[in-house]
Amino acid sequence: MQFHHYGYVSSDPRVLPAAGVGLDRPEELPDEVDVLIVGSGPAGMLLSAQLSQYPDVVTRVIERRDGRLVLGQADGIQPRSVETFQAFGFAERIVAEAYNIGYMNFWGPDPADRQNIIRTSRTEDYGFKISEFPHLIVNQARVLDYFAEAAAHGPGRIVPDYGVEFTGLTVHETGSEAAGEYPVEVQVRYTAGDRAGEERTVRAKYVAGCDGARSRVREAIGRKHLGGISAHAWGVMDVVVNTDFPDWRTKCAINSEAGNILHIPREGGYLCRMYIDLGEVADDKHEVRKTPIEAIIAKANDILHPYTLDVREVAWFSVYEVGHRVTDHFDDREEGTDAAPRVFLTGDACHTHSAKAGQGMNVSMQDGFNLGWKLGSVVTGRSPAELLATYSAERQPVAQQLIDFDREWSSLMARKPEEISDPQELANYYLGTAEFPSGFMTRYEPSMTTGEATHQGLASGFPIGKRFKSSEVSFVCDGNVVHLGHHARADGRWRIYAFADAPAAGEASALASWAEWMSSSPDSPLTRFTPEGADADAVFDVKVIYQQPHEDVDIMGAPEVFRPKTGPLGLMDWEKVFAAGPSAWCSTDIFEERGISRDGAVVVVRPDQYVAHVLPLAATGELAAFFQGTMLAR
Ligand code: FAD
Repeated sequence: MQFHHYGYVSSDPRVLPAAGVGLDRPEELPDEVDVLIVGSGPAGMLLSAQLSQYPDVVTRVIERRDGRLVLGQADGIQPRSVETFQAFGFAERIVAEAYNIGYMNFWGPDPADRQNIIRTSRTEDYGFKISEFPHLIVNQARVLDYFAEAAAHGPGRIVPDYGVEFTGLTVHETGSEAAGEYPVEVQVRYTAGDRAGEERTVRAKYVAGCDGARSRVREAIGRKHLGGISAHAWGVMDVVVNTDFPDWRTKCAINSEAGNILHIPREGGYLCRMYIDLGEVADDKHEVRKTPIEAIIAKANDILHPYTLDVREVAWFSVYEVGHRVTDHFDDREEGTDAAPRVFLTGDACHTHSAKAGQGMNVSMQDGFNLGWKLGSVVTGRSPAELLATYSAERQPVAQQLIDFDREWSSLMARKPEEISDPQELANYYLGTAEFPSGFMTRYEPSMTTGEATHQGLASGFPIGKRFKSSEVSFVCDGNVVHLGHHARADGRWRIYAFADAPAAGEASALASWAEWMSSSPDSPLTRFTPEGADADAVFDVKVIYQQPHEDVDIMGAPEVFRPKTGPLGLMDWEKVFAAGPSAWCSTDIFEERGISRDGAVVVVRPDQYVAHVLPLAATGELAAFFQGTMLAR
């Protein structure tokens, strides 16, 4: 963590200095805002934490609840989400309080007595193999608390406006007199406190509908939620028990003659979540939703036979039928027009599915991450408004993949024992599809934010369009081993990693030429798009990774573009120069691990951590052209 460069800090360095609209943020919801976020669930809170990093953008979050969420339903956190939490500064703290999924065990009928269950397989959980971050279980309410803290501690000092409900909106045609600077006219109503029942209008440049499955924002823009619910019901309960079931503290899929259970231990060492199969639903009147908790507990005991559950407390329970729905477009842009979208849908507002694959909150947060930096860039004038159309284009296919995956996973989970030929089959499916539920399968297509894979061979381990997979390197300044990707905070900046070539003595260095072009050419993104008077790294965080061990690199010999002097004191930044070579503490060589050419390469990473481009050091023209499509000259 870097601090003191804006002056000596003696308090919590995670609380960033307030700036822009964060300096005197009004208590009262203003009449005009740049971005209005509707809903403070996982999608809305990530979006607000991101936009807090853009203190020139007036962002408000309205939430109809009168305060923080107390009882969250979601609890499964995939490694990609933990990676995202790291970028927002709270991964270590949430990992410490969460349940860490190390194994998933599978149970089936005992061939000797099919009324009993036995363990059929133990599977190491995928999280550890695929990422340096674990697969966690933690209450959704805690995730929201951490994002709320990140939003409140960011320069924009964003806190939700609780007790305010969205009731409708009108988008006035951009350029028309009615539109003015704030084309979206939003109706809201106070739901709590002295003003409960009062209605008013707020004007916004953009609205993000993060208002969950029954989204009124979706309804207001006339988007349809396509799909339906199946005739299969599940009971879900969070319980503390006394039991003789030996895998109570291990995640399990249990398949018995009496039905199925997905069993998930939760944080704190005692609480567990059970999804209990209630079977096919005969009618379409949703009578099954009235199933009492006693019946769900009795069913769980039947399935677990010969083991028993003595339920001591039920923290929460519910009954639902599995539904799969996805909205056709995630914004209000009309087909065939060039007009930029003004209203966006995120999370459950545009995709819903069963809870058992543990995906909804995770995918919703990635929707928010995708949209946040784009809104920040456009509202601050760094990028053209067309950038906003890439949100729906990128996220709608991800939601569709999620629905397809979840449909398969839920129907596999609901099979009867006689439909399972191989007890190992479910375990194999779980492991074989690991990349998807871990959150790492997303790959964005080429667009104005994502380049073509022409030079992919120069860095085969950083696939363009996929998230930047971190690897260990050493700081040259002190030899400490760090994860390169962990130095990319969710601060709205682009990362440009220059992987150095290794010229022989007397040969010209491609890195030196690239660095010279970056710092001095009028076509360089640094000179073209960094605002006048801003820090040199305000928009682009440019880092270098040398091939040698750290002791063999002279930090003062690194080109100045990698050692910018920033902040009011003009202090040199020591933490942008890295070494790949092995050292006593670091056995990995990022060039080997990520297939990077020894002739060097440039890897461009978007503010939401997705690889945007891979280029040769000599391809400065292509680098300039890429950013000319995405950004506006200062
Ligand atoms: P929500 O969390 O629904 O938040 C929407 C917010 O908008 C709410 O705070 C609501 O009060 C507010 N709001 C709604 N309407 C208005 C309005 N008109 N005006 C103002 N505010 C409004 N997902 C996982 O990833 N992992 C899991 O393990 C998991 N388990 C689940 C278990 C269960 C039993 C259920 C039901 C869901 C589970 N999910 C899980 C799914 C997950 O809960 C959702 O996908 C996730 O909460 C969606 O986040 P969101 O921000 O889109 O919407």
